[in-house]
Amino acid sequence: MSEELLLHPLFRQAVALFLLFAGLAIGSFLNVCIYRIPLGRSIIWPPSACPGCGRPIAWYENIPVLSWLALRGRCRGCRAPISVQYPLVEMLTGLLFLLAYLSWGLSVDLPFILAYFSLLIVIAGIDIKAQIVPHILTVPGILLGLLYSYLAPERMLLESVAGLLLGGGSLLLVIVLFYIATKKIGMGGGDVMILAMIGSYLGPVKLPPVLFIASVGGILFFLLMRFVFKRRRIAGTITADDIKGTEPDLERVIYFGPFLAIGGVVMLFADRSSWIHLIAWW
Ligand SMILES: [Zn+2]
Repeated sequence: MSEELLLHPLFRQAVALFLLFAGLAIGSFLNVCIYRIPLGRSIIWPPSACPGCGRPIAWYENIPVLSWLALRGRCRGCRAPISVQYPLVEMLTGLLFLLAYLSWGLSVDLPFILAYFSLLIVIAGIDIKAQIVPHILTVPGILLGLLYSYLAPERMLLESVAGLLLGGGSLLLVIVLFYIATKKIGMGGGDVMILAMIGSYLGPVKLPPVLFIASVGGILFFLLMRFVFKRRRIAGTITADDIKGTEPDLERVIYFGPFLAIGGVVMLFADRSSWIHLIAWW
């Protein structure tokens, strides 16, 4: 493609709209991943059905955001509520895909950044719902971060490796020190993997701010839930330890992954004036 075409305003508009709609559609797929990966089910087959009544979901009931609005958040068969998670994940993915294009353009960066956002959304969603961080998501994320640094001319592989080691190592150190001090596991090993993935994308320098954003966000959220919404328990699902009554800190079961993901997304945009691009595009 010629430089002239790539910079033409109409061409840029068309690609931006395409990325927005592609993001909405991919967001719909990410919802399937969030639901099925913790259950150990295939993310490709069978097609989506209502978990309440097993009614298959027709293509026109599966249009991102619009279908959820048209159905008013309920299954057409059994009237079971459809979580607001579905349209929210779709809109978030669409917005991040659009922002990625407005910030990086059609470059070698773009596919890696879209993959980064998609993986972080699924990781955060699964952590919220099931309190697990599957390696099947973080390990490919780490490898993509390294490959991105290897391929992109502005980036250095060494920086990526340093970010990976610092991200994985620093949280591991916190967990070990916390364990020595209290004989309790403070955070999950999954958090280490998430920060290692973010480190392999962002390099070591941006990791302290990622941890800062995640910690402040996590603490604020915890305080809000505990004292404003009076929730005794923050995590959604009941773990095996709960059922046996051996869960040591029922009130403290909290997820950190979503806040790491937020820090990782914010810091990726840190030196890009993405919001200005978005307002200008609007
Ligand atoms: Zn149903």
